[in-house]
Amino acid sequence: MAQIGRTLVIGGGIGGMCAAILLRRQGIAVDLVETNPQWAPDGAGITISGPTLRSLRDVGVVDEVLRHGGWWNAIDVCDRDGNIDVTVPVVPAIGAEDLPGGAGIMRSALAGILGKATRNAGVNIRLGLSFEQLDQDESGVDVLFTDGSASRFDLVIGADGIHSAVRRHMMPDFTGSRFTGQGSWRAVMPRYRRNSTIYMGETAKAGMNPISETECYLFVLDRRDNMNFIEPAHWQKELARLLAEFGGVVGQFRDGLLDGSIRHPRILYRPLSSHLIAGPWHRGRIALLGDAVHATTPHLASGAGIAIEGALVLAEELERRPSLEDALAAYADRHRDRASLVVDASCRLGELERERGPRDEYTRVMVEAQQALRAPM
Ligand SMILES: Cc1cc2nc3c(=O)[nH]c(=O)nc-3n(C[C@H](O)[C@H](O)[C@H](O)COP(=O)(O)OP(=O)(O)OC[C@H]3O[C@@H](n4cnc5c(N)ncnc54)[C@H](O)[C@@H]3O)c2cc1C
Repeated sequence: MAQIGRTLVIGGGIGGMCAAILLRRQGIAVDLVETNPQWAPDGAGITISGPTLRSLRDVGVVDEVLRHGGWWNAIDVCDRDGNIDVTVPVVPAIGAEDLPGGAGIMRSALAGILGKATRNAGVNIRLGLSFEQLDQDESGVDVLFTDGSASRFDLVIGADGIHSAVRRHMMPDFTGSRFTGQGSWRAVMPRYRRNSTIYMGETAKAGMNPISETECYLFVLDRRDNMNFIEPAHWQKELARLLAEFGGVVGQFRDGLLDGSIRHPRILYRPLSSHLIAGPWHRGRIALLGDAVHATTPHLASGAGIAIEGALVLAEELERRPSLEDALAAYADRHRDRASLVVDASCRLGELERERGPRDEYTRVMVEAQQALRAPM
């Protein structure tokens, strides 16, 4: 086991919390700092793929995720009015055949479950806090926090998301994520089917994934020329415009958005961007995890999955290798291929959607990536 007595995780998102839980399990003292004083992510649904469920089982929270979320073993592919054309089975990940093929949950519920597990693991959590300065030498990293306090750590993990400040400190030449030409729209609506559902329109595709016994979240991706901010006051009208061609429950939902009868649709818009850092993912005793090092679009619903897989691989390598340097190098070497598979395939799917590219290529990229991710890490 690498000689690490004390570790700091910067960022209490999905990846950071999983890393903190797994390192505590090895008896390592872990501090976690999170800028958001409420520790509450935006109010959208998130899809948990079969491989992600397998990783959440290893972290120890899958039962609770399934208890609070919704799950399915098939996707109903429908026409734009909601008539089912075909039902496609969703096969669980290899080694997780006892779990469903897919699941969904509100991000805030997932954060609550992981937050509870992080506290129960004995992580020293400090909210509303970040780092001001990181200074490392051969034997440790001196961290100055934004509240003026200071501490020394053996290892610092930057799990602070797509706009990572730790990455900026480590890799000042990194030019930033690349806008992928699409925006993501999500809203919460009543659940009306057992399965995950896709409505295939002429110009748009709308999906609905269960997030509890009673609710699902609707998602639509649209083509965008830039990352310009859209005022939340316009989100309801804009989403309704994107759903113009749909009938069935999607059409009813759109009409409810337009006539105001749907009071709190919990809509969220985000322009999509992505990156994958090819080179080393650490400098000395500071390492990056999750979106900080590989941020993806939601086409394969696997960004959170690879953040959790990264935490599992990092913890395993730290336990397995006596040298910290070797462990951090091995973490990136082992995890990079799966991360780049997700980032590359997701971006290609986005391109094909934007350009209305060949449907057979779209299906092939999707199926090949899903099969590869089902295989053990
Ligand atoms: C529109 C959209 C939809 C998506 N849908 C899915 C999906 O359905 N399924 C899926 O698997 N993935 C999905 N993803 C990807 C997924 O959300 C991310 O890959 C995942 O959240 C990455 O986890 P993370 O812990 O690396 O980063 P984050 O979840 O972003 O967490 C980073 C944390 O660090 C904190 N932080 C930031 N800066 C600092 C700082 N300086 N100091 C301290 N704390 C800091 C933040 O407050 C945050 O809590 C989606 C992404 C997008 C953009």
